[in-house]
Amino acid sequence: MRRKIVAGNWKMNGSTDLVENLVGYVRSEVSSLDNGVEAVIIPPALYVRDVKSLAGDRISVGVQNVACWESGAYTGEVSAVMAKDCGCHYALVGHSERRQLFAETDATVADKVAQLMSQGLNAIVCVGETLAEREAGQAEEIVSAQVRKGLAGVSGDGWQNIVVAYEPVWAIGTGKTATSDDAQAMHRSIRKVLEDMGAPAEEISLLYGGSVKADNAAALFAEPDIDGGLIGGASLVAKDFVSICQAMPAGSES
Ligand code: PEP
Repeated sequence: MRRKIVAGNWKMNGSTDLVENLVGYVRSEVSSLDNGVEAVIIPPALYVRDVKSLAGDRISVGVQNVACWESGAYTGEVSAVMAKDCGCHYALVGHSERRQLFAETDATVADKVAQLMSQGLNAIVCVGETLAEREAGQAEEIVSAQVRKGLAGVSGDGWQNIVVAYEPVWAIGTGKTATSDDAQAMHRSIRKVLEDMGAPAEEISLLYGGSVKADNAAALFAEPDIDGGLIGGASLVAKDFVSICQAMPAGSES
């Protein structure tokens, strides 16, 4: 059965105040939901422990990035081992901002996925095309290659820890969202690629990300291959994040 996930990527935003104000509210609201949604909060690494202690068992916590290495002389890096040690269950890998601003390649993504698999952590692997690639009719080809290369090292039980987030680059933080039809088509195509790779494709949760808001989440989540969302800006506003969690249809587990 696929997990229904709404994950909030705080990016490089947040403070002790935000943690205190947002997490308790989200916890109390999400605990009364009966739609089976799993809420995941992904703050900057410095706040992971604070979020974890306020979130209790009801909300999962993640990191936005992990190193390609297990430990050692890599100043500034955070390892998958540390993420696990601090109570994280999830990590983002290959977010488009990491790819664009920090030169992460599909090979880097594969290395990070391997680190997460070695710790039994869930990898939310982000893929997506740029506007130029979409306009050139290359969107599916680009996304398919990112999935194949980034997940090339995954096999067997490892697939249970894989979540793929389709985030068209042109939709992130822009207020532009893919139409539900376009998002569904790409999710279906990703599931086909996973199947071709020998993965239990129907069991893998696929999230949509890119300007998801309270007023467009329900239409996206109603699509058969969209199992939830990766939320940036709206995850910093407690009520908006909760509304997006509420937009998950009840009984929609596949
Ligand atoms: C993101 O950062 O992954 C994201 C989807 O951002 P936003 O929701 O702000 O577009």
